[in-house]
Amino acid sequence: MEQSLRDCLKIAVANRIAIAHFNIADLSGLKGIAASVRELGVPVMIGTSEGEREFIGLRNAVSLIRNLREEYGMQVFLNADHTHTFEKAKEAIDAGYDEILFDGGKLPWDENVAVTKQVIEYARASGRDIIIEGELGYIGSASEVRKEIPEGAAIDAADLTTPEQAAEFVRLTGVDLLAPAVGNIHGMFADAKDPALDIPRIVEIAKAAGVPLVLHGASGNTDEDIKAAIKAGVAVVHVSTELRVAWRRGITASLADHPDEVAPYKLLTGAAAAMADVAKNKLKLINGLI
Ligand SMILES: [Zn+2]
Repeated sequence: MEQSLRDCLKIAVANRIAIAHFNIADLSGLKGIAASVRELGVPVMIGTSEGEREFIGLRNAVSLIRNLREEYGMQVFLNADHTHTFEKAKEAIDAGYDEILFDGGKLPWDENVAVTKQVIEYARASGRDIIIEGELGYIGSASEVRKEIPEGAAIDAADLTTPEQAAEFVRLTGVDLLAPAVGNIHGMFADAKDPALDIPRIVEIAKAAGVPLVLHGASGNTDEDIKAAIKAGVAVVHVSTELRVAWRRGITASLADHPDEVAPYKLLTGAAAAMADVAKNKLKLINGLI
């Protein structure tokens, strides 16, 4: 029988591994990621931010993911990543997304709780089993290569999510998954590894929250940190920037190697291959295969 995202999350938690979450903006990204996922036979989540889903089209994204499930029997699920308003969440639920991340990380506490609850109510009323993730603490928004920490992102211990906040937020909202600020930031640094994750805090938050945690912004974090975070209670690991960097590297090389080529599908093959390589390594790491 086909496994739901909820089933796959339960299995990941039981096996102390995680599900990889990769963002896409076009077919070359999905093609590259899907090739590695099929090769390894592991579940995966595909994310589209508000910008990415506007570019692809929400129903197009839903169809692409369904096609992969039906055609190849892949355990692939679609997340409306970093959704900032109830209206955008509603759009994604209506279009058929499997998960919604309502990101109220920058909102005042009461408003974050209220809108997260509103999204859950709407999702439950749809009759489909949609996973809802909430976000506590701001970790910067753009998946880009950066020189410094984004303004307002929590990186001092005093600004990170506390176990008490996590427990209270889950109790008040009823989210299925929680994305805390644990020293992670979106994007990656041009010349250095990301700052270390606060692993003891992840252990405490996971215990207090009682739901699986999601690690955002894992691009640039060390393999050791990612492994330790999974052992500590993280069940979904988001990687985006490293894939974007691979896409650019692939397309740049294709253009340089074939200066007279104008067929997009030929030029995009390089981007898909570069993304497939990055995805494969991350899938192995996140699924406990290395
Ligand atoms: Zn994220």
